[in-house]
Amino acid sequence: MADPFFDVVIVGAGLSGVGAGYHLQTEAPDRSYVILEGRDVLGGTWDLFRYPGIRSDSDMYTLGYNFKPWREAKAIADGPSILNYVRETAREHGVDRHIRYGHKVVAAAWSSQDAAWTVEARTTDGGTVRFACSFLFLCGGYYDYDQGYTPEFPGRERFRGTLVHPQHWPESLDYAGKQVVVIGSGATAVTLAPELAKTAAHVVMLQRSPTYVVSRPAEDAFANWLREHLPAKLAYQIVRWRNVLFGMYFFNMARKKPAAVKARIIQMVRDQLGPDYDVETHFTPRYNPWDQRLCLVPDADLFQALKAGAASVVTDQIETFTEDGIRLKSGQTLTADVIVTATGLNLKVLNGVALTVDGRPVDPAKTLSYKGMMYEGVPNLASSFGYTNASWTLKCDLTCEYVGRLLNHMKATGNRQVTPVNADPTVGQLPWLDFSSGYVQRGIGSFPKQGTKAPWKLHQNYALDLMNLRYAKVEDGVLQFSNPVPRRNAKAAKVGAAV
Ligand SMILES: Cc1cc2nc3c(=O)[nH]c(=O)nc-3n(C[C@H](O)[C@H](O)[C@H](O)COP(=O)(O)OP(=O)(O)OC[C@H]3O[C@@H](n4cnc5c(N)ncnc54)[C@H](O)[C@@H]3O)c2cc1C
Repeated sequence: MADPFFDVVIVGAGLSGVGAGYHLQTEAPDRSYVILEGRDVLGGTWDLFRYPGIRSDSDMYTLGYNFKPWREAKAIADGPSILNYVRETAREHGVDRHIRYGHKVVAAAWSSQDAAWTVEARTTDGGTVRFACSFLFLCGGYYDYDQGYTPEFPGRERFRGTLVHPQHWPESLDYAGKQVVVIGSGATAVTLAPELAKTAAHVVMLQRSPTYVVSRPAEDAFANWLREHLPAKLAYQIVRWRNVLFGMYFFNMARKKPAAVKARIIQMVRDQLGPDYDVETHFTPRYNPWDQRLCLVPDADLFQALKAGAASVVTDQIETFTEDGIRLKSGQTLTADVIVTATGLNLKVLNGVALTVDGRPVDPAKTLSYKGMMYEGVPNLASSFGYTNASWTLKCDLTCEYVGRLLNHMKATGNRQVTPVNADPTVGQLPWLDFSSGYVQRGIGSFPKQGTKAPWKLHQNYALDLMNLRYAKVEDGVLQFSNPVPRRNAKAAKVGAAV
């Protein structure tokens, strides 16, 4: 029996996949699509992560979709509210009816002769199912769902307390009245420390080196005022643009005047913690702002917990785990009932899908990314990969719009295959991301490369991407369009030739 055919197969039903479904049915409504989701629920990140206090660290006016206003009072929102927003979007627009759960895509093979992908998915019951499609849209995020990253800590097996990774938070974990150590200094650690400190006996945030931490009000007073006085969509667009522009301005300042931005951020921390706190040791990173993602804390909650003595920060290195805690290289010991390894994620390239093009395996690390969403030599495939210096969804919306435009263009011109091809030998290669963060450095080698010039360069800049993805011509001389002879016709043509 022939594999079920859809014009587009979308991989993943998180924020990106649900957005992709909406954009596709809005911008290319005559195209059929299915969303294959490996898990049994939608929401991705916002369903998977269940640790106490889970929240966004960028504002919901830019983390929300461009087509669905964020209507809640909090701009820095908690995980369940974000999950609810994604679910609501899927329900409101009927995207949920296109999702097949328990279908983990493991491989996809492109045939130029058929101008189609054969997509192979593993089902929850251990079976394998195949789908055929004209276009494959990878929206499965950027990290490994099976396993978070935990370094090899010496003596780990000696520890008699509870050891947890935030990616696998046990619902039953009771930390009230307990001594807790959170290892890490990233977004998850700065979220967890003040939240756990509400009921724990004490929380130590143990970091090897500091991160930039910036406080912002959880509620955006201007946005809430505007929503009361203007139609929701208009208010949303105004706040969204204000936040986009401010974000771009701040990022550019950090790149152009790192010393000044650094001094300003550190001063803001000093203002929060007072003159006696050792800001130099615990909140002054060795790198420049935006060499890694900045950590945002709502309403200065981390600083409040530190000032109240409910939490503290220790900057040191682990010598070994012990039976009842951790011994540090400085000789200090930390007693712990619970240790949380907020030590990060494992990156996963192209959603873990093994790609082949006409029988030739694709090595992602050897391909150049086109506009940060397609790949050199790989036909009819795009991936939705958001910003790392701004909200993820900003880029995803643009990518989805572009895919709709591309599909419409192909239909209008009668082309069934589109492949980015680099014919310029002067295009150099750079890593996909230039963040110095551990999780990026560990995994980025296996990612596609970006080029040194357009359209291979990854701008991480909403305004430029808006021009490149929404307004620039689809036919740019780099995308090669073709219309392979369908297999049936190819046979017929051969027979005709022989007669
Ligand atoms: C704790 C945490 C907080 C974050 N906070 C922010 C923030 O504040 N702002 C921001 O911009 N970004 C944030 N991010 C990044 C965040 O992941 C994105 O904002 C966004 O949720 C990504 O959506 P996504 O749909 O692309 O990927 P995910 O949310 O990762 O969803 C991917 C979905 O695809 C499925 N999938 C993956 N591979 C396959 C496959 N091969 N076959 C079938 N299904 C597959 C997964 O099961 C999952 O359901 C955060 C990330 C984490 C981990």
